[in-house]
Amino acid sequence: MIISKNPYTGEEVFSIKEYTNIEVEEALEVANKRFVSWKNTSFEERSKLMLKAAVELRKNKQEYAENITQEMGKPITQAIAEIEKCAWVCEYYAENAASQLSKDSISTNAFKSYITYEPIGVILAVMPWNYPFWQVFRFAAPALMAGNIGVLKHASNVMQSANNIQKVFERAGFPKGCFQNLPISSSKVEAIIRDFRIKAVTLTGSKPAGSTVASIAGEEIKKSVLELGGSNALVVFRDAAIEDTVRTCVQARFQNTGQSCIAGKRLLLHESIAKDFLEKFTKEVRELKSGDPMDSETYIGVMAREDLAEDLEKQVQQSLKEGAKILVGGKRDKTYFEPTILTEVTPDMPVFKEETFGPVISVTTFKTEKEAIDMVNSSAFGLGVSVFTENLDAAESMVPQFEDGAVFINELVKSDPRLPFGGTKISGYGRELSLHGIQEFVNKKTVYIK
Ligand code: NDP
Repeated sequence: MIISKNPYTGEEVFSIKEYTNIEVEEALEVANKRFVSWKNTSFEERSKLMLKAAVELRKNKQEYAENITQEMGKPITQAIAEIEKCAWVCEYYAENAASQLSKDSISTNAFKSYITYEPIGVILAVMPWNYPFWQVFRFAAPALMAGNIGVLKHASNVMQSANNIQKVFERAGFPKGCFQNLPISSSKVEAIIRDFRIKAVTLTGSKPAGSTVASIAGEEIKKSVLELGGSNALVVFRDAAIEDTVRTCVQARFQNTGQSCIAGKRLLLHESIAKDFLEKFTKEVRELKSGDPMDSETYIGVMAREDLAEDLEKQVQQSLKEGAKILVGGKRDKTYFEPTILTEVTPDMPVFKEETFGPVISVTTFKTEKEAIDMVNSSAFGLGVSVFTENLDAAESMVPQFEDGAVFINELVKSDPRLPFGGTKISGYGRELSLHGIQEFVNKKTVYIK
């Protein structure tokens, strides 16, 4: 049995029998057979269904969101926003896939030469619990629109949401087998990647999981896309608009109870504004409302699992031993972790150099632009960075110096169906969303006619 436990109440909320090897085999066969017909459907047909998926999501957003909140402790208003964003990505690809995958003519010596973008088959998605719907939809919407088939191995603590996602596609009218949830533990993933019917794999999660999955895919010469988290910096220069920046940084770090790969985890403040900034920042953090995730007033819920909260506590404790100071918070009660600000953090401390996956922000000051950029780049992660300044020319001139996959100026790093999303270094490789996401899992076929 795979069991979901409500991390706020401790109660069991869902259980599902794990698929046997035979059931996995049957599911892969259904998926593979479906590909034969699905790849020949028109973009119009796929669009119609994808728009229906968006309608289904909006219609039943309360129910889907409540299940998310029960399974992983996300505040209900944020769960509803997540479902709405999934509807958006469905609509985006329903509208844009045909043009994104239309034939590209290239002028050569040939009478005619061009590229076509063709689906490759059944793709395995290994997904995490932090955005149980969004992480899956940002893979599934482009994959299905491109003519591929999806099979999902979701995180073991959010199997109800995994089932709900399959339900969304079924209710929208997608043919059986276009998208299937496989209720399995991670031990079954290797055989699935090696199966001849699986053509590629995408994984969002931790480095160990990503490294294991990508190694197996590599051995089988199958493509992988990895989105493995980050330790984004929020860099505040002396001329930043302080009030707005404070508000944005609070959201960047504390939404989703800090459990986001693109959260701003390292706050880098110019020393001249650090005191003033921290006063205002601390005030806002103290006002964040913790409580029952089902309460629409709650902004900080609980962490998804107690072991994750314990890991975070260890990172905080070790950093304190190494000289960091607690400005706010720092305490844990089971899955609840107080919103926490740590100051006097140096780049060799765990809260700076590791990913902190919860409501903890580290604060470090800098004197010069170069020092700030070096600190941003000193991270092993490379997902994104936010820069706050009124001097847009100066900010833009810094862009090439950052090693990350995204630079946001005066804004938190966020995903948007229209923009590519992904990292460098140990944050992974490949891109999701936009034209770049839909083109990850297609055969870019060169056609040459003399
Ligand atoms: P994991 O990386 O372990 O889990 C993510 C997904 O990978 C789950 O579906 C999991 O299945 C699966 N998985 C785990 N190990 C393997 C494996 N060896 N082979 C195949 N599949 C595997 O994340 P955790 O939930 O343990 O979180 C740990 C840390 O990972 C977090 O603290 C955070 O730092 C990072 N993380 C990053 C995320 C992001 O958005 N980039 C999201 C979630 C976590 P199962 O649940 O059955 O183990």
